Amino acid sequence: MTQIETTAGERMVLYPVDPYYVPEARDTFLQALIQRGLLGAHWRDDRYLVGQRFMQEIVFIGCAPFLRVDPQDDLQFCHLQVFATEEAIFRRSPQAGAPRCPQCRVALISNAVADLEMCPQCHRKMALQDCAWRAGRTVWSRFGINIWTLQKGDAQATDSLLDFLQRLSDVKWKTAFL
Ligand SMILES: [Zn+2]
Repeated sequence: MTQIETTAGERMVLYPVDPYYVPEARDTFLQALIQRGLLGAHWRDDRYLVGQRFMQEIVFIGCAPFLRVDPQDDLQFCHLQVFATEEAIFRRSPQAGAPRCPQCRVALISNAVADLEMCPQCHRKMALQDCAWRAGRTVWSRFGINIWTLQKGDAQATDSLLDFLQRLSDVKWKTAFL
């Protein structure tokens, strides 16, 4: 059974393409992100304020937005959260669309909340994370970085940041918007 996260709230997610990847030394990984200037001061739990080089790591599209970066208890401010879970978790944007069979492309039950066992048309066996969803709208991982309040169309991660994460982890990274 696929573990599903239902956390609401718009964010950009940086995540490794290997769903089972977690850094062997998590503190070293965090320190590297802090030194890079992506993460700023630790705020609470697994959350960090934006770092000094945040605006160089993330490119804003169009006119520079007014970004709320001062801590707010309602969490409605731009900050980073480095998450790690015991198992890979499937996360999906409300804009992920209806899933399709990755093999025959037939539309599957819209907004399925449980694992699909088999495609009704071609009988391919699959789980939620195997379905074809709208690109860049789902994440299947144990580890990653949420950048809260960033929305699709507002911002994108630079290639330089994605390369940095890859060098740090030996695995390619991608971006999604949930
Ligand atoms: Zn199918």
